Amino acid sequence: MKIGVLALQGAVREHIRLLELAGAKVVAVKRADELADLDGLVIPGGESTTIGKLMRQYGLREPIMRLHEQGKPIFGTCAGLIMIAKRVENLDEPHLDLMDIDVKRNAFGRQRESFEADLAIKGVADVFPAVFIRAPYIEKVGEGVEVLSVIEDKIVAARQDRLLCAAFHPELTDDVRFHAYFVEMVRESMITNVAK
Ligand code: GLN
Repeated sequence: MKIGVLALQGAVREHIRLLELAGAKVVAVKRADELADLDGLVIPGGESTTIGKLMRQYGLREPIMRLHEQGKPIFGTCAGLIMIAKRVENLDEPHLDLMDIDVKRNAFGRQRESFEADLAIKGVADVFPAVFIRAPYIEKVGEGVEVLSVIEDKIVAARQDRLLCAAFHPELTDDVRFHAYFVEMVRESMITNVAK
């Protein structure tokens, strides 16, 4: 199994560390040809406007969409969640037109630019230490989307088949459980992708 972490900007090393702890072989990817042989991809947090711009500049949009079409799981955290959303408030065109969610950026307000909270995340943990930094939240989800976690009525983690997202930063803790959940998604997808 080989998982890539999109290394255009943001918390790349931290994701690599936790994915390795969860048992995956991990590479940082920047170029289209490096995406081709991946079994899964993580899009980290950072600044979605910057990541989106670089992604287009480096011609990575189509190759990432292709990964998804091939049934390879994609996990977006924070800015990465914004990257994979079909609809983002005040953004005319989605970065990657993938997950059936409506997202609001920097959505927790100025006085709460960053904070920590213990979250219950379905299928992952009863209590997960979540770090929020200028975080987005999900306002609405489409039919095929399963809500995994909510805080103050705001959706902050969700899954749609082979797409996974979190509004917070699981890579900034030592808790490997969210990454282990994604590694398991990739493992399952490899079995069914081979069977196809
Ligand atoms: N506010 C950032 C954005 O809109 C996301 C913040 C983060 O990834 N920590 O892209």
